[in-house]
Amino acid sequence: MKNLEHYKEMLEAEAKNLEKELLTVGRKNPDAKGDWEATEKMDIDPADEDEVADSIEEFENNKGILNQLEIRLKEVNEALEKIKNGTYGVCEISGEPIEEDRLEANPAAKTCKLHM
Ligand SMILES: [Zn+2]
Repeated sequence: MKNLEHYKEMLEAEAKNLEKELLTVGRKNPDAKGDWEATEKMDIDPADEDEVADSIEEFENNKGILNQLEIRLKEVNEALEKIKNGTYGVCEISGEPIEEDRLEANPAAKTCKLHM
């Protein structure tokens, strides 16, 4: 593939952005590589029911955002891994090359347009 370096740059930039966004809602799980966990607010008053309810809602919210970001980061990292292994840009279903415009729109695409 001729634009490999270009897609690698796109993927690396996206991975960096995703990690930045992940840090706003969570932290890296120190026990599992590549795993993230949502953070809870620590400075709340446990006697204040409204504050506790808000904090639980925010935590649930953060978990939802974090899961989405984590899934995308995993896809991006898998694509970067494929670049390293020389298997990037190949449809996982048909084994055909993935269209350039599809990769341009989503450099972590795993399948060609026919199999998306
Ligand atoms: Zn295909």
